[in-house]
Amino acid sequence: MERIRVAGVEVSPNHYIGGKRVSSESTFQVISPIDESVLGEVAAGSQHEVDLAVQAAKNAFPAWAALGPKGRGNYLKKLANIIEANIEKLAIVETTNNGSLFESSRLRVMKRGAHNIRFFAEWAEQLKGEIWESNGVRYSVHYEPSGVSGLITPWNAPFMLTTWKVGPALAAGNTVVIKPPEWAPFTCSLLADFAEEAGIPPGVLNVVQGIGEQAGAALTNHSDVNRISFTGSEETGRIIGKAAADRIVPVSLELGGKSPLIIFADCDFESALRTAIGQYDNAGQVCLAGTRILVEESIAEKFLERLKTEASKIVLGDPRKPETQVGPLITREHLERVQGFVEGTKATGAELAYGGFVSEKLGGLYFEPTLFVNIPNDAEILKKEVFGPVLTFQTFKTEEEAIEMANNTEYGLAATIFTGDEQRAERVGHAVNAGTVWVNTFFARDLSAPFGGSKKSGIGREGGNWSFEFFCDVKTLSKRNGSFQ
Ligand code: NAD
Repeated sequence: MERIRVAGVEVSPNHYIGGKRVSSESTFQVISPIDESVLGEVAAGSQHEVDLAVQAAKNAFPAWAALGPKGRGNYLKKLANIIEANIEKLAIVETTNNGSLFESSRLRVMKRGAHNIRFFAEWAEQLKGEIWESNGVRYSVHYEPSGVSGLITPWNAPFMLTTWKVGPALAAGNTVVIKPPEWAPFTCSLLADFAEEAGIPPGVLNVVQGIGEQAGAALTNHSDVNRISFTGSEETGRIIGKAAADRIVPVSLELGGKSPLIIFADCDFESALRTAIGQYDNAGQVCLAGTRILVEESIAEKFLERLKTEASKIVLGDPRKPETQVGPLITREHLERVQGFVEGTKATGAELAYGGFVSEKLGGLYFEPTLFVNIPNDAEILKKEVFGPVLTFQTFKTEEEAIEMANNTEYGLAATIFTGDEQRAERVGHAVNAGTVWVNTFFARDLSAPFGGSKKSGIGREGGNWSFEFFCDVKTLSKRNGSFQ
């Protein structure tokens, strides 16, 4: 297939395998959530294309691994520079493809993509295993490349999340096969162009486009894939976990969440309010979103009134426009799922405090920011991830009650606490079950820190050394002292 134009940018709708663009017999349609227009047909990979890509990655592996961290780092830093030079292009393609805000993509998200690649290249150059002696034996720990990594990403932040996996996998000396999300495949295709421009040898970075149950499943079940790094839903995570268990390969699962935002009366009110309203960002299609707002009773009434007022000021609209604060949901299918949650919650007797419907002015996939109060404790909305602009508001009387409510979920991706009391921050921070706990801040993400979920939010941690512990074969070399001439 010829290259197509997405928002004026030329993008290949084909796979990228062994340094070449490869098409497939069948294709799938990609639609823009902005206006539900068709953006193009994309190659639908099957077992055959996955086999070709894994073979290409396997062939490229020995030479890439042999380059060492510095040699690989030179290529990866070039790739990061090329990403930086193409931020505008990447941002407009991503926005057109998944409806995320152009300004936010342009100013932050795409830069973070370049940072992901550069950060892990530099980290690998300094990565040293420990060395120690015990009982006359000298032990040294080595991080060795592990072969081909299969990387699978979701549509809500496809470029950022792909680079978050590609960076450490390639820096570790592995070669990769990426299966981008079928609803937003285009920026990953651009990444392949940039890898070629950076001179990354053919086969080191491969992209197989396609439907999850076909291309994704073929990749996770492939006998020559030695690592599977997955970000997506709990349901898919379960399937992929089973595939990894069958072949006994390490798997990293970064899954969904139902995170609490806990607001104590002694906090900086305005800052907590800004954070609460910020949970509508990306139309709530954010794994880390603190969708369960828990507020201490003494400030609850005031907080709720202000939250409703601020929600009414949110500019819902075309994500390409700078004034827009919340864009559309990704697909009609997803919109119907969100509507299903809203209707189901209304049926429980919960009170709709704001929103709850498709924008009358905009129609399409634009769903009004929605807020529920007075929700029965067993309501589904308090337990299941909606992945839409739907927040719940609950109150608590004591710290113990706040902790209990925060932990009353099967998920454990993140939790956010607002308080003016540092000791309380420590106590509550330790008591909540979550991979990441923020206090008086939200979304602060230093790449040196471990990232991942507790409970059903996932298995494993990535970031800093944790990424290399996952992507590498960690080896202990033990030599008896005095046993050499
Ligand atoms: P999804 O699980 O439907 O799809 C994710 C990816 O998996 C896609 O590329 C898809 O094609 C692929 N896939 C689907 N079925 C597959 C199968 N059987 N075998 C292999 N691959 C398969 O998720 P989604 O709807 O794209 O993304 C939304 C979900 O992602 C939400 O639950 C969200 O919380 C989660 N998410 C988590 C994080 C995190 O860091 N923890 C970040 C972003 C999104």
